[in-house]
Amino acid sequence: MKKSIVLLLCLLAFALPLMAGGSQETTAAAAGEARPTLNEDGSFHLPIVDEPTTFSIFLNFNNMPFDSSWPVWQELAERTNISFQSVISQSNSNEDEAFNLMLSSGNLADVIGYVNAADLESLGRDGGLIPLNDLIDQYAPNIKAFMEENPAFAQYATSTDGNIYFIPKNQMLRTAEFWFIRQDWLDKLGLEVPTTVDELYDVLTAFRNEDPNGNGLKDEIPLFDRAGWKMPDEYLYLWDTSIEFYVRDGKVVYEPLEENFKTGVTNLVKWYREGLIDPEIFTRGAKSRDTLLASNVGGMTHDWISTVDYNSKLAQDVPGLKIVGIAPPADQNGVVKERTMSYPIVGWGISSQCEDPVSVIKFMDYIFTEEGTTLVNWGIEGVSYYVDENGEKQFTDEALNSDQTTVGFLRSLGALYRIGMNDTGENQLYATNDEGRATIELYNSHPEWYDESQPPYADGELDLKYLPEDETRYERIMGQIKPYVEEKLQSWILGTSDFEADYDSFISELHKRGIDEAIEINQRAYDFYVASGQVD
Ligand code: CA
Repeated sequence: MKKSIVLLLCLLAFALPLMAGGSQETTAAAAGEARPTLNEDGSFHLPIVDEPTTFSIFLNFNNMPFDSSWPVWQELAERTNISFQSVISQSNSNEDEAFNLMLSSGNLADVIGYVNAADLESLGRDGGLIPLNDLIDQYAPNIKAFMEENPAFAQYATSTDGNIYFIPKNQMLRTAEFWFIRQDWLDKLGLEVPTTVDELYDVLTAFRNEDPNGNGLKDEIPLFDRAGWKMPDEYLYLWDTSIEFYVRDGKVVYEPLEENFKTGVTNLVKWYREGLIDPEIFTRGAKSRDTLLASNVGGMTHDWISTVDYNSKLAQDVPGLKIVGIAPPADQNGVVKERTMSYPIVGWGISSQCEDPVSVIKFMDYIFTEEGTTLVNWGIEGVSYYVDENGEKQFTDEALNSDQTTVGFLRSLGALYRIGMNDTGENQLYATNDEGRATIELYNSHPEWYDESQPPYADGELDLKYLPEDETRYERIMGQIKPYVEEKLQSWILGTSDFEADYDSFISELHKRGIDEAIEINQRAYDFYVASGQVD
């Protein structure tokens, strides 16, 4: 619905002769094109323009409108002579509304970033954003090199029409979520860290039956997850399966049709029946982790790095609490795999009303230089970070111990905003405690756990780009399949219907509802994804 309104507005707005949108001098275009981005010695040519120049910008990350007074952006303006003025008022708190309002006005900001990649690409196809391919080729050597070295970044940047309409924000750390277990409970029961799914079953059974919290009650909830309501199949990963599509050897498969699915669901049903999984896994919601750790009943979870923070947060309430990150348990075939990963996210593009796209792409390129990357990741030297005696960057006490999170502090300076940049991940690595750092380093040191050939996963679903005609068809088919599969899975786990008895009719129902065509569409989208990673 929203998309079709946007489309209509775009057709109306951009079919008309373009009105001057930028506030920069018209001579700036000539200035931007006059010289190459780099000096002869390979260093970045600064300033980018001779006279201070301001471009208009639309960005409202997490409902935090772009603010030209942020120290990082003041510093960027000083170095480059380029600054940006937000077209959104600082009091705006509705990104979607502001975006649609801008489109309907027909006056586009020079630079546009938005939360939804598909909306930015459709704006591009309708002529509201310019293709950046040639500009990158000619004026953005740092972005070009970055794309060559990071295929997933190039893939995410490229639309199904082959054009690049926005520069994404890359996430350098591949880790997103981790397995965490109560080390104090393992110690108390004399158990080792489980390394396989079978060992995990034994450990969870001991957590269930042997009273590790020592209160004389059988109240332990061995395995829990606060995302259970939105990813009901996350524990199926333990048996290398899910209720979604997956890529195996370049072929898209739908996992419920595969053998592993039978193994996974059969075990999950058993685990739930035996009390190893939170009885309220589907309904307990976002507070699960707070509740179950504070009441000293939760034993193990799969979650973000912040899970280790409970060791100190709950030190008073749960004496001896010790949560540690562990390797993912190997599946029934002995393979260790971690399916959750970080992927590039949406960044920013240049509108068709910008009068000097060359200077803007140079600015965007500067963000990918070493100095630019430091500035947008670490913030301001002497404020948020310093360089220690070994030449290593460290966050200041002010950044680590303000009343905000470290990331929040960095954002208050204008760092780590949602722009085209490389998020190097130090904000996670250096902002957690020793336990968290060890966990991140453990996962980071095992690239073989991560299947780099998978396209992006968002909340456990493939995040592929479809051709417009495929997309409609795909949504229609999956609208029939997805709710059906989720409902069946839940009924098997909760024991309201029998998996084995249902299985054959379940499979034939999937075929009847069009799963084979959905697989074909995903295969086309995946093939496109692979091809768009090959930068020439
Ligand atoms: Ca107990």
